[in-house]
Amino acid sequence: MSETTYPNDGFRQLIEGYRHFFEGNPPRKGFCALRAEQIANTQRPHSMVVSCFDSRVCPEAIFATNDGHICVHRNMLNQIDPSDASMMASLRFAAEHLQVQNIIVLGHSDCNAVAKLKDLASLPAEISAWLGGCGARYRGDSYADAVKNNVLDQLARLSGLEFIARAMRENGLNLEGMYFHIDTGRLERYHSGQGRWEFIQTEE
Ligand SMILES: [Zn+2]
Repeated sequence: MSETTYPNDGFRQLIEGYRHFFEGNPPRKGFCALRAEQIANTQRPHSMVVSCFDSRVCPEAIFATNDGHICVHRNMLNQIDPSDASMMASLRFAAEHLQVQNIIVLGHSDCNAVAKLKDLASLPAEISAWLGGCGARYRGDSYADAVKNNVLDQLARLSGLEFIARAMRENGLNLEGMYFHIDTGRLERYHSGQGRWEFIQTEE
């Protein structure tokens, strides 16, 4: 297991928050009126998280963030869909106006949406239209591989967006892929330089 590297301070905060969550600590004292004065007139989130909408995957809890720290966009299968105006508007606002340091695509174990990719024809029209229409595919020898490969596919889409590529080039925007294990609370991070997934260390 290699040392966790921090490409920026926002990422360090995410990992420290994750360790807080993993150790079973209660949520931090955010999301309450105590901090209202500090954030009433501005927001400076360090990261945006694109998560599946699965009720068991809650980015603010997993990263133990306070209000004002991360923007979250959720949809079935954590898709980066260029035809989804809501998603594109959120991404562009986060990258250009808020100038977040990181965008995380967060997949997870037991993702029913990925499993359903094998059998779109059996689904109600609204669900098959979304899962099939955004071009996702079941790719890999195992269920976990398919989820992880979908995360990588979405990262490739993300980096292919013109305004994201520009933010990476000009502002150092960092893209990350992660995989959350619902059953254990563990989190894997994709190391693009090494081309492999690795568990995030839960201790310094
Ligand atoms: Zn899911």
